[in-house]
Amino acid sequence: MTTTISHVKTDHYLIPLAQVLEDSMHGVMTGFEVVTARVTDSDGAEGVGYTFTCGVNGGAIADILAREMTPRVIGRDPSLIEAIWKELWWAFHYGGRGGPTVLALSALDMALWDLKAKRADMPLWRLLGGYDARVPCYAGGIDMHLSPEELVAQTHDNIAKGHRAIKMKVGRDLLREDIAKLAALRDAFGPDMPLMADANMKYSVDGAVRAAKAFAQFDLTWFEEPIPPEDPAGHRRVLLEGGIPIASGENLRSVWEFRTAIEGGVTFPEPNVTNCGGVTPFMKIARLAEAFHLPVTSHGAHDITVQLLAACPNRSYLEAHGFGLEKYIESPLQIVDGYAIAPECPGHGVAFDWERLNSLRV
Ligand SMILES: [Mg+2]
Repeated sequence: MTTTISHVKTDHYLIPLAQVLEDSMHGVMTGFEVVTARVTDSDGAEGVGYTFTCGVNGGAIADILAREMTPRVIGRDPSLIEAIWKELWWAFHYGGRGGPTVLALSALDMALWDLKAKRADMPLWRLLGGYDARVPCYAGGIDMHLSPEELVAQTHDNIAKGHRAIKMKVGRDLLREDIAKLAALRDAFGPDMPLMADANMKYSVDGAVRAAKAFAQFDLTWFEEPIPPEDPAGHRRVLLEGGIPIASGENLRSVWEFRTAIEGGVTFPEPNVTNCGGVTPFMKIARLAEAFHLPVTSHGAHDITVQLLAACPNRSYLEAHGFGLEKYIESPLQIVDGYAIAPECPGHGVAFDWERLNSLRV
């Protein structure tokens, strides 16, 4: 029998970081926001979704979700996720194509997929196609401020936690300081450890070409966000003249923006399920990449994203991020010998500790 959506509960939290983090363009980060969506159906079953920010916009996201999206989905069949997604996308398109609206939609869509998988009594990765529960992953450091010695120490720590691949931040004002840090990692861990560098959109096209040529000696798996995302021709120049594969996607907000990026030369599409519109578009982006014979990687939200990449035959590395959300999740992601393991419980497997989160409510 068909159920309907009876309730959507929105909550907004500000979670302090255990240590202050820094990258090239977002500056110093002291905390991050989480906005959650809990969808309850007419049988009382619940799906949970969330999105996060670097510390701002959470109020707008929570307001859009609670005040404007929720009334539009009450009474709808929660299994018709594509229909709900398309209706919300166009209802909000004029003022909200991108930005807080898409983050709100991401949280809601994620909750609907969690609900669908729970009702099917299947883990989400099997419902989405089912490929391999073991997903290669890497430690994504937000570490531009670290010295070469501190970066090496952090990497030893990450290897002790089960990681076998590392991504570091670049984009310091002096290129030679980035080069010294890459050299320190290669010296300490050898030529075979998969290593990525993330500039967070720091460079001009010419600056990125110069950096890529300087980084080429370190055999990077990819050079991430060398320039801002709106410049496909620039990405093509960086790829062809710099000679390193490019990853980008954490600042793209739709399937269509990914199409443009792939046509522009992005070789590792890197969607974030909490800001690309949710599970529905994430999987389309992954299949789009597959059609171009490209790997798909991911940004952030590793606890849920492991489920999505476990459904993709073209999955590359899952990014495991050190934001500290695991303190508020009942069964944090397991990383074993370089692989993240998608759990077998029904749904996406992320169960928040709501009582613990309560003290951080905005
Ligand atoms: Mg990045």
